[in-house]
Amino acid sequence: MWPNKIRLAVIPLSLLLVLSCVTTPVTNREALILIPYEQELSLGKQAFKELTEKEKESADPRLNELVRKVARRIAAVSDMPDLEWEFKLIDSPVQNAFCAPGGKVVVYTGILPPAANEAGLAAILGHEVAHAIARHGAQRMSQQLILTGILATAAISLENDKDHDLIMATLGLGATYGAALPFSRMNESEADEIGLVYMARAGYDPNEAVNFWKRFAAQKGPDQTAEFLSTHPSDETRIKDLQKLIPNAIKEYDKSMPQYGLGESFR
Ligand SMILES: [Zn+2]
Repeated sequence: MWPNKIRLAVIPLSLLLVLSCVTTPVTNREALILIPYEQELSLGKQAFKELTEKEKESADPRLNELVRKVARRIAAVSDMPDLEWEFKLIDSPVQNAFCAPGGKVVVYTGILPPAANEAGLAAILGHEVAHAIARHGAQRMSQQLILTGILATAAISLENDKDHDLIMATLGLGATYGAALPFSRMNESEADEIGLVYMARAGYDPNEAVNFWKRFAAQKGPDQTAEFLSTHPSDETRIKDLQKLIPNAIKEYDKSMPQYGLGESFR
């Protein structure tokens, strides 16, 4: 039997843990999130502003239209279509794209050559949007909260210098700050699984996800720090796992109307 004092401390925490379990869409996995959703949305908004305000937006009208079209289609079939979605195409050789919590999507023009076509970009955005919808950033922040107690839930803010880099890193946006914190292998696999379903529901041929990763693995350099270049799962494992998920994604694709196949080419 625990002394009373300890029991008093343990009960509220265990209650908190029970109350903080959420179910992830598509994969139906249970996840622990201790960050209030409103706070997560506000962090996503701040991060999006911070990451885009110093960058130059692409002035290419055709590319802007294509990227926004694909992003809008993925957002519309995601499990949170009613978020305040925003999309920005940044003119930069960086091979990256991300979706901050709250539906704030950034694509760098450097990722378009390996994406090659709308379906390739849909694979990338499906994956990034899946991280946001599955709330992987908030899950990671919650783990940090338990492990280190660095972040006090009431005071989590990007304006607090002490926590700034850690928050950006837990949201998956840390590479820019030299504080890359790759998502766990389980988070990555889950984003691949959900992303593939999203791209298929949006009307893009899911087979192109496998082709995209093959193209990407063949050309990426060792110094790449983009979120989805993380080494886990390895390219080979990722491609093999995606291939196993294709039959289910094809079922989603067969139901989607209209079907765009690969869509237009970026070249
Ligand atoms: Zn990822």
